[in-house]
Amino acid sequence: MSFNNVSFWFDTCPEQIKSRPALTQDIEVDVAIIGAGYTGLWTAYYLKQQQPELSIAIVEAETAGFGASGRNGGWLMGAMSGEGKYLEKLPEEDKRTGFDLLFGIIDEVHTVTTREDIDCDLHRGGAIYAAARYPEQIEFMQDYLRHQHQLGLTEEDYRWLSRGELEQKIRIRNGYGGVYTPHCGVINPAKLARGLARCVESKGVQIFEQSPVQTVDNRCLKTAQGSIKANVIVPATEGFSAELMDIKKYVLPVQSLIIATEPLDSAQWAEIGLDQRPAFSDAGRLTTYGQRSADGRMIFGARGGYIFGGKVRHQFSLQDPEFRLRETLLRDLFPSLQNTRITHGWGGTLGMARDMSPFALFDPATGIASAGGYGGEGVGASNLFGRTLADLILQRDSDLTRMPWAFQPSTHRQALKRWEPEPFRWLTYKAILQCFSWEDDLYSKQSAAAWRKKLAGMLCSKLSLLIE
Ligand SMILES: Cc1cc2nc3c(=O)[nH]c(=O)nc-3n(C[C@H](O)[C@H](O)[C@H](O)COP(=O)(O)OP(=O)(O)OC[C@H]3O[C@@H](n4cnc5c(N)ncnc54)[C@H](O)[C@@H]3O)c2cc1C
Repeated sequence: MSFNNVSFWFDTCPEQIKSRPALTQDIEVDVAIIGAGYTGLWTAYYLKQQQPELSIAIVEAETAGFGASGRNGGWLMGAMSGEGKYLEKLPEEDKRTGFDLLFGIIDEVHTVTTREDIDCDLHRGGAIYAAARYPEQIEFMQDYLRHQHQLGLTEEDYRWLSRGELEQKIRIRNGYGGVYTPHCGVINPAKLARGLARCVESKGVQIFEQSPVQTVDNRCLKTAQGSIKANVIVPATEGFSAELMDIKKYVLPVQSLIIATEPLDSAQWAEIGLDQRPAFSDAGRLTTYGQRSADGRMIFGARGGYIFGGKVRHQFSLQDPEFRLRETLLRDLFPSLQNTRITHGWGGTLGMARDMSPFALFDPATGIASAGGYGGEGVGASNLFGRTLADLILQRDSDLTRMPWAFQPSTHRQALKRWEPEPFRWLTYKAILQCFSWEDDLYSKQSAAAWRKKLAGMLCSKLSLLIE
C-alpha cells in the first residue's frame, strides 16, 4: 500500500512509510484504542506513562497519521474551539486553571517531543489570528479580542496589531490589522503522528494497521481477521466517526483542503515577512489557515464542504476544482506569489461537534471512552484530551478531569448534542457557506453599497450562531 499522496507532510517523513502488520488473531488487552491519530496515540502515551504495566493495543484502518493528524495545517494551538463557552461559566480560579491548561499545551508537546526524541519541526512563533483585509472585518475582530479580555485574558495573551504592526509581521494585500497571540506554534503534523506511533510502540503498545474495526460490542471490537477483548475501548476516530458506532450522530465530518507552494526564495520571503514563522489566518469566515514551513514553503488551507449524509471523503487531487479557490485566496493575499508554483494539494476530514465544543468522556459501565469534535482545532487539543482521557480511564481526580469538557456518565447527554437529521444538516451547512462567500465577495467590492455589506455581516454573524 502506498501512502505517497496523503499529504505534503507525509512526503517529508524521513522513513519510507509502510503499514505495520494487521490484526489477524483474537487477543485480550486492558485498553483497545481505535484510530492511530493524535487522540489515540496521546491517550496511549499518557496511559503508559502513568501505568506502564497496562496492556494497550491500537487498531488503525490505514496507517498511523493517515487521518487528519497527518494532513492538517500544523497550527499547534494553546486554545480550542468552544473554550470560551466552557470556561466563562466557571469561578475565576477554575477559569484561570482552564486557560493555563490550554496555554500549557505547547510546553507539554515541546517537553514530550524533546524527551522522546520526536523531531516534528516544532517552532514557537505565535499566531496572527485573523488579519482583517476589509475595514468591515476590524469591528468583528475587535469584538473577538474584547471577548477574550472579558474572559480574564490580558494583552500578554491576545493583543491587537495595528496596520503598521501587522505589516511588520506579515505583508498581505490590504492588511488593516489583526489579533496576535504568543500561544501557538507550528509543527510538521505527519512527523508528530509518525514519531508518536514509534514512541508508544517502543513502550510496549501494540499497533495493528490496515485493520478497519467493523463492530464494537460488549467490550469487544472486531476487524475482518481478528478481535480484541478489552476492559476499556477508546474510539478515537474523530472525523471518521460517521463510519463507526453511534458517534456519527454527534460528530459531523467536514473536509478541509490545503495547498503547498514550491519553496520560496529569500527575496519572496522578504516581501511577505513571517520572519518569526507565526501561524496566520485572514478574517474571512471561511476559516483560512497558513504557515511558513520549515523548508520555506507557503502552506495554506481553508475549510471545505460537507457531503450529504455525512459521507467521509477519502480521495483528493490537486486537479480538483476546490483547490483553485485556495489558490485564488492565496494569490490574492500575497500578490507576489502570482507565478509561484503550487506543488501539492491535499485534504482531510475533521470532526465538528454540534455546538463546536469538543468532549472527553468515559463510562466505566460500558468501558467506552472517547474524545473528539475538535472542529478543526485538534492538533493541540488532542494532547490535552489524550491526557484527560488517561486520567478519566484511570479514574483519577485531577485538574484535567475537573474541567467542563471532561464528562462523567451523569453528564454525557450534555457532552453529546445531536446534529439535525438530513436533509436539514446538509441544507444548513450549504446555506451558511453560501452566505459567508457572499459576504466576502461584497467586502471585496469597493462599489458595493454600505447597507448591503452591513446586512451581509449581520446575517453571517447570526448564521454563525447556528453552528455554535
Ligand atoms: C486539512 C485539515 C487541516 C487542519 N488544520 C488544523 C490545524 O492547523 N490546527 C489544528 O489544531 N487542527 C487542525 N485540523 C484538525 C486536526 O487535524 C484534528 O482535529 C486532529 O488531527 C484529530 O486527531 P484524531 O486523532 O482525533 O483524528 P484523526 O487524526 O482523524 O485519526 C483518526 C484515525 O482513525 C482511523 N480510523 C477511522 N475509522 C476507523 C476504523 N473503523 N477502524 C480503525 N481505524 C479507524 C483513521 O484512519 C485515522 O487514522 C485540521 C484538519 C484537517 C482535516
